[in-house]
Amino acid sequence: MAPWDLALEHADSDGIGQGDAGRMHAVDEKTMTMVRAVLEYAQQRMSYDSPPLDHPMRPSDLQRLAPNTITGHGMGGIRALHLFEDVIAPACLSSDHPMYLSFIPSAPTEASKAFDLVVSASALYGGSWLEGSGAVHLENQVLAFLAHEFGLPQQAGGVFVQGGTIGNLSALVAARETARRQRRDSGQAMPERWSIVCGEESHSSIRSAARVMDADVIVVPSDDSGRLQGERVRQTLAELSPEKRDGIAAIVACAGTTNFGLIDDLEGCAQVAHEEGVWFHVDGAYGLAGCLVPELRSHYKGVESADSVIVDPHKWLFAPYDACALIYRDPEQGRLAHQQHASYLETLDTDQAWNPSDYAINLTRRPRGLPLWFSLAAYGADEYRHAIATAVRLAQRISEEIRLRPQLELLRKPELSVVVFRHEGWKIKDYELWSQSLLDRQIAFVQPSFFQGEPVVRFAIINPRTTFDQLVMVLDTMDKGFDGAGSAS
Ligand SMILES: *Cc1c(COP(=O)(O)O)cnc(C)c1O
Repeated sequence: MAPWDLALEHADSDGIGQGDAGRMHAVDEKTMTMVRAVLEYAQQRMSYDSPPLDHPMRPSDLQRLAPNTITGHGMGGIRALHLFEDVIAPACLSSDHPMYLSFIPSAPTEASKAFDLVVSASALYGGSWLEGSGAVHLENQVLAFLAHEFGLPQQAGGVFVQGGTIGNLSALVAARETARRQRRDSGQAMPERWSIVCGEESHSSIRSAARVMDADVIVVPSDDSGRLQGERVRQTLAELSPEKRDGIAAIVACAGTTNFGLIDDLEGCAQVAHEEGVWFHVDGAYGLAGCLVPELRSHYKGVESADSVIVDPHKWLFAPYDACALIYRDPEQGRLAHQQHASYLETLDTDQAWNPSDYAINLTRRPRGLPLWFSLAAYGADEYRHAIATAVRLAQRISEEIRLRPQLELLRKPELSVVVFRHEGWKIKDYELWSQSLLDRQIAFVQPSFFQGEPVVRFAIINPRTTFDQLVMVLDTMDKGFDGAGSAS
């Protein structure tokens, strides 16, 4: 019997309206057995210092091993859990494995993972103050902590959204709405097209946001080091037609490019945005976490001038998927752009309460900032500074090791924790075979990447459990002991 059937049964026998219907009934034993089994599984998974790396499976194999799992009568929770444990979990890469080095890995703290379960267990609603005041209060403390770290003014605020893509889109929509409003208010004509200015190395989500907004993208070439410089932005804008220049809704700089982990010239870009009177957005999904490390703070000079910033806790702030902190310098600009209006929502807006849904393109939301809050509250911010700095040091150390190996070439000195290099003479096929062999042997997940059309290897280091020796071992496999790559056997 499903739990809601039980509840109804009790409600009937007790008689709704006789004072008992709203009281908590203990959930039946069978259901609790299932709940305990699920929690035990979660507990066991959290106890692994190094979980199995695992590997992707072919659709046909999954279809064979896990066919038609949804039936009329249900298979029962325990069986479904076993199916997950035996078949499905091994078919999902462990992005928190210390040797998961591709894309941007994830390394949630035990505290944040455990508390994520609490957020679900408590059915917390994080869209409005009315429904989730306590949760919203704590999420706002985390946002205020981050805003302070970035040097934003005290009234800065925002919301945790699903990821950097939604964060960037929400910020850029707010930028355009603000530009529109300013024009309307001052009686100026609207431009024919709006556009977003960003660097060559900006993340694909900026282009995606522009597409959703039906705005154009103006791409500014990077300097030789791969960074966006304010001076180049100024030059690019100077070459635009007055109409085009008039329609700029935002200038976007990146605080930690995904490919190389480079921080753009934030100060210079902020200056140009200021001169032009346009919104300045900093995309720091991966790299802005580095701002918490005192020795790195100077690399981020200029972020304090941003009109909006994003940083993903699920990347370098050690929280589980999925969360992006979106922070506005003046949250009112976010609210004016995003607040939804409907008759059933009006009661939420009576006493000027802080409703997180008002600050992004979302309505219903879980308070996904709470796992980060719990972890920050439990361990303290210094643990975070330390863990982030550890990855930066490791990136520098392994770069030195790469430099010492004649057959390897380091492409750029890492600024944060991304290390990109290539092996002399290797073609894409060599990289692919090597990468596949590492995964087959469950040693590491390192996907080949591309730089200026050439295949390269990229280590993205996030996990404090990743060690120098493990990385050296991966470098060693490039020269010996892996099957396949002709040039290396
Ligand atoms: C990862 C990333 C994004 C996108 O964030 P998601 O959370 O994956 O949506 C945007 N910008 C940068 C710089 C990133 O590294």
